[in-house]
Amino acid sequence: MKYKRILLKLSGEALMGDLQYGIDPKRLGEYADEIKQIHDKGVEIAIVIGGGNIFRGVAGASAGMDRVQGDYMGMLATVINGMALQGALEDKGMKTRLQTALKMESIAEPYIKRRADRHLEKGRIVIFGAGTGNPYFTTDTAAVLRGIEINADVILKGTRVDGVYDSDPEKNASAVKFDFISFDDVLKKGLNVMDTTAFTLSQENKLPIVVFDMNKIGNLLKICEGENIGTVVNI
Ligand code: UDP
Repeated sequence: MKYKRILLKLSGEALMGDLQYGIDPKRLGEYADEIKQIHDKGVEIAIVIGGGNIFRGVAGASAGMDRVQGDYMGMLATVINGMALQGALEDKGMKTRLQTALKMESIAEPYIKRRADRHLEKGRIVIFGAGTGNPYFTTDTAAVLRGIEINADVILKGTRVDGVYDSDPEKNASAVKFDFISFDDVLKKGLNVMDTTAFTLSQENKLPIVVFDMNKIGNLLKICEGENIGTVVNI
């Protein structure tokens, strides 16, 4: 396998499937199947999950809510998603641990890097919930931060588009996809891979990012096997 240890970032919205809000159990099951394929090949898997299918602090703030309060609600949303994903993975026989950046010890371990390492070495899938534990950050930043901390080989950012384009493929039919692009070129061309905080953290720590379509069956396995799927962002 090309990658021994990965950090998979899934957005909260990805869990909605065809729904307008919340979690689609069918989609959750499909993701669990995809993850099982790489787990069976011995890849060590850590997952950061977003919360946008339930709540985002920015949306709360634009409706008049206190931003910090909203962000903590968003972090709690990621824990709900993490528990749902944990259940789906365990249904398919995988061993998992949920570690959260905000303490809630009745339902999850607190985030402890050394314990996360140990779980991964033992073949347990570790889901990191509650983002970074701080308001004003995103789960993309949490993904890069945790990815660096656990020495992941790569961040695999599963989205509903199949890579990074020179313009928005949903608006411009002639948009061109990059198979490979450097961090510098992403910045020069003003492309959107992750928010600036997450992106800079990844660049500074030379942690490559692969942006790919998580809804295409088999993509996750192919990437881990070394196939050129999606867009690789690297130095
Ligand atoms: N959030 C936060 N700090 C973090 C991670 C997340 O405050 O470190 C909050 C923030 O309000 C964010 C929400 O949790 O909008 C959900 O996360 P995100 O928007 O990254 O989820 P995604 O877009 O991946 O579904």
